[in-house]
Amino acid sequence: MKSWKLTSSPVVTGQCLCGAVQFKMEYPAFWAWHDHSRASRLAHGAVYATYVGTWRKRFRITAGERQINRFEEKETGAVRSFCRRCGTPLIYERTRSRHMINIPRALFQSRTGRQPIYHIAIEEMQDWAHAGEPLVPLKGYPGVFCRRSKKKRRRQEARLSASIRSRCS
Ligand SMILES: [Zn+2]
Repeated sequence: MKSWKLTSSPVVTGQCLCGAVQFKMEYPAFWAWHDHSRASRLAHGAVYATYVGTWRKRFRITAGERQINRFEEKETGAVRSFCRRCGTPLIYERTRSRHMINIPRALFQSRTGRQPIYHIAIEEMQDWAHAGEPLVPLKGYPGVFCRRSKKKRRRQEARLSASIRSRCS
């Protein structure tokens, strides 16, 4: 890659799990989004991937370039790079936006200047994705939380509406 051109913009840094690959990006990013597509789901081994997109020229690998492997998706021509040592997904390059580069949000240690308010392939969102339902601690398993059972939720809702009714009458 080309040498880092110094600009007056602040930079944010990130790295892979093992730390072999390090990078920096000028702040702020262009945008951020959640990607629910099957390809990103499989590439990350996660229910969806959250990316930060920026211009290619505003991003630099600062260490471990030789540790990076590339995988090209046959159907789309998109290229996904990952750390060959720890497997962390690093860069997602889409053919239709050649000047942009996408980096998993989770790899940055600090804010990127953009909130992931957009969703791609939302129709592929999995029904096992956590959608912010209230969680309760699981008895006997410290640190484990679970969705409240429907029965308990219904009982609590019934109690709540009964108390509202009694207060209103
Ligand atoms: Zn690594």
